[in-house]
Amino acid sequence: MSEEEVFYHSRAKVPAEQTSLDTQVGGDHYKSMAIQPIEFIQKNQLPYCEAAVIKYVCRHRRKNGRQDVEKAIHFLEMLLEMEYGYHETNDFDVYQALAEETAIYPTLGHTIVYPALGLNGEAGEVAEKVKKLCRDSDWLTSPVPHLSAQFKESLKKELGDVLWYVSEVARQAGLTLSEVANTNIEKLSKRKQNGTIGGSGDDR
Ligand SMILES: [Mg+2]
Repeated sequence: MSEEEVFYHSRAKVPAEQTSLDTQVGGDHYKSMAIQPIEFIQKNQLPYCEAAVIKYVCRHRRKNGRQDVEKAIHFLEMLLEMEYGYHETNDFDVYQALAEETAIYPTLGHTIVYPALGLNGEAGEVAEKVKKLCRDSDWLTSPVPHLSAQFKESLKKELGDVLWYVSEVARQAGLTLSEVANTNIEKLSKRKQNGTIGGSGDDR
């Protein structure tokens, strides 16, 4: 019998023996579980963030519903940030929060005006890069068009500028970047399904 089996078997064999796990302050959402989160966490010596995620995921249906799920997600975000760094996540909303930290610009009328103008300017800079590529190299006529590492690096920066302004325009309109991204994918998926991806008009 493994160490774990001995642990749970011994508890099951002596129901009369009270342990601190038989008591719960403020509810029974842990106590009524076959294995309580604290038992699993202690036996596996899980660090704080992982432990908190397990705790909130296990209790949300019996305690705080959506808020517990959101807390679990928040701990996962902190875990990602602390162990892997922001930039290795694909989370649009994390990006948007970071972009906001560097959003220092004047208010021109409504706050959406400045980033909307900036978005147009940065989109133009992307087009300018491609224009110069066509003008200053044989890229257009080359039988095997090749983008240099230098070009890709400079394009990456300009596309990042575009992304920053997209994020800020969305934020000023009260939209999260993830809902913008998801709505776009849903829209295009629907068009692909309907065979209208190559047409024109917003609602097709
Ligand atoms: Mg730029």
